[in-house]
This record gives sequence, structure tokens and C-alpha cells, in this order.
Amino acid sequence: MKAVLDHIGIAVRDLNAALAFYRDALGLEIEAPEDVISQQVRARFVPVGSATLELLEATAPDSPIAKYVEKRGPGLHHITLRVEDIAGALAQLKGRGARLIDEQPRPGAEGALVAFIHPSSAHGVLVELKQASPVIADPSGITKHTLGDLELTSLHDGFFRLDGGSMFGVVPKSLWSAKAVPDERNRIRLAMRPLVVRGEKTMIIDAGLGDKEDTKFRDIYGVDRVPGLDASLDEAGLSPEDIDIVLATHLHFDHAGGFTTRDASGRVRPRFPRARYVVRRGEWEDATHPHERNRASYRPDNYVPLAEAGVLDLVDDDRTIMPGVRVRRTGGHNMHHQMVWIESAGRRAAFVGDLIPTTAHLPDAWIMGFDLYPMDTLAAKRAFVQEALARRDLVYFEHDPVVAAGYITEESGKRHVTPL
Ligand SMILES: [Zn+2]
Ligand SMILES: [Zn+2]
Repeated sequence: MKAVLDHIGIAVRDLNAALAFYRDALGLEIEAPEDVISQQVRARFVPVGSATLELLEATAPDSPIAKYVEKRGPGLHHITLRVEDIAGALAQLKGRGARLIDEQPRPGAEGALVAFIHPSSAHGVLVELKQASPVIADPSGITKHTLGDLELTSLHDGFFRLDGGSMFGVVPKSLWSAKAVPDERNRIRLAMRPLVVRGEKTMIIDAGLGDKEDTKFRDIYGVDRVPGLDASLDEAGLSPEDIDIVLATHLHFDHAGGFTTRDASGRVRPRFPRARYVVRRGEWEDATHPHERNRASYRPDNYVPLAEAGVLDLVDDDRTIMPGVRVRRTGGHNMHHQMVWIESAGRRAAFVGDLIPTTAHLPDAWIMGFDLYPMDTLAAKRAFVQEALARRDLVYFEHDPVVAAGYITEESGKRHVTPL
């Protein structure tokens, strides 16, 4: 385990009095004060090289800092070590009999995960572990990449939330909650990232959730679409009129919701006015004949109007949709779920849809409970990852809340992603 000193927390009685030493006598630069409401403290940060001193003053009598000062007087309160894999570090500590205050990492400031270790295991020092959130320019922004003669742009239709248990199937919560922190309703945050491929034509693969859903739906699924797909298209220099082909991995609402929109008169119509919509025939049949197990995922308004408007093209098998873009059925998630291979000038990228929805789903056994045919997911994922590793393919993760795309690596059986 590698750890880097992140900061040292110092409990003080009076922040202003502490400044007399740290700022005036030592001559250190001090940042503006910041209130941490949840901890009932006011903090001042003192940068010292790559680490920081945190001067902490209680803002309420029952604040942890107030209790500490009352019991032990002001002084060193905690040290924080930054680690790469906080879940791994906690497992290692637990295995060695260390007493943990937090058995599971919990959300800290700025998207970090944190966990405290009891001072009795650390020779009297309260130790906090911290795993910083991966640094990505802007998780809701677009990501552009040139692949040979093709230009790939990962768009963003905002976020939604699904039950964490359903998202990880048979994986215990004690494991998945370290990778995807659940909210108070046990839901985890997922992005929707349609991909635009510009080549001979302009294609969009999937289109997010769209804007037709009501308040109840948006509450159940924690929908946060701001700024949404139109803003994202705009950022990419595109408008819905520019799209020639809309390609569906499958027709679940978080992929096909954006295929249609309601016009001023309330009628639902195709959202991309010039586009042909390409859907796998088997998936069309399933979506138009849902059963009890998959009905909640299908909303006919998302795709039936396409057939009515005469803009639907059904394909029967794995084939090239436009030069450089080829679909391949994976099955698993549902019978006719398909992924997309994008290839130009000997370089290749993969848009895997719900085969591997987030980077947390890279291990073979981390398969969604939603999947209708999990053993097929297992086989398809295993084959795909081996292929992607061997060819160093760029992989797009449609639902990952942080990483739009990256390269998979494998080290002593553990898979990682190096973000694009
Ligand atoms: Zn799906
Ligand atoms: Zn999905």
C-alpha cells in the first residue's frame, strides 16, 4: 500500500488566536476560512508543500472538535493519508486486526472517499484514509477523440440513479458500496453518455433519457439532466438536425428516452428530424412485447412514434451501419442487446452499452441484477475484455459517473481503467 500525507488536522480553541502563531509568527500563507457544516467546524487551511495543515475550531458545543478540546485540550487531532484504493487499504487493515471506525468508506469533501481508523490501533493518533476522486476535467462535459478518420465525441445527458443492489447483482453491498457510494435511498449515481461518431455521416449512439418523463418518474430515478443532451450537442458544435443516423444499443428508457420528444401540441415525435433510427429487430420485438420482468425498462413513447413516422430501420444481424461502425450482439443484459465497434486506420474503440455500464463493472462477476441472462453477460464480457486488452481498444462507459472512456489494463488479475 502506498500512502501520501494529505493533511494534518489541528484542533484549536480559537482560530484567530491560532493565526497569531501560524500566520504571524511563522509567516505562513493562510487561506480563507471555510465552514464544514456537517462536522460543526470552521477550518482554515495552511498549505505546507504538498500537504496542508487544517486548523479546526468547533462551531457548536457538541461538535467532535469541541468534545476533543474539552477532553484533551487543543492539539493534533488527526492525520490524513491519501491512498489509491481505500477499500483495499481497509481490507488490509482489517485483516491485520486494526480497529476501524469506518468499516466502509464514506463520501468526503470534493467527491473523495474517506474512512477513519481508531487511535487505539495507531498508537494514539486518529488516522483518516482518503481516496481522492479521479481527476477528470469535467464529468458532465464532452470528451473528443480522433480515431483515424473518425471523430468521436462523448456527450452527456445528465445523471440518474438506480438501486445499488440491482446494479451489482450478487456482489455484496460491503464490496460495491466502496466503488459506488449509495444515497439514503440506496441508489447510486449513473451518467448517460451518448456517443457521436462523425465520419461519412454523423451518427449518435443512444440518446440518454430525454425530456418526456414526469415528476414522479424523475423522483424515483433521481433524474438530474441539467444541462442535458441539447446543451451537450451544442457544446460539440452540433444540433439535432445534424444527426443522420441514430443507433440503439437497446431500447431501455435510459438509452432510448432521447429518441423522441414532445412538440408544442403535446405530440411525441422523433427528436432528430433528419435521422434514420437503427434498431435491432429482436430488440424491437421485445420492446413492443414486454413481459413482467422487463416492462419497467420499456416506455413505448420512446420508440413507437419512430415506426409511425417511418424513420425506423430494423437490422437482423451483426453488420456495418456506416463505414467504420459495426454492431455486435452481446445478449446478456437482454437477448438482443448490442455493442458497437468503431474502427478507422487500424485503431479501434468500443461502445459497450450495458455490457459494462461503469468501470466498477469490469470484474467478470460484477454483473447487474437487471440482466435477463447473466451467464451470457459473463461470457460476452470475458470475451470482450480479453479482446480489448489484446488490441488496446479505447472503451466507452455509457453510465460511468466519472470516466467517459479509457483503456483497460489488467495487473495480477485486477482490472483498471486509464481514463482517456
Ligand atoms: Zn439497459
Ligand atoms: Zn442502461
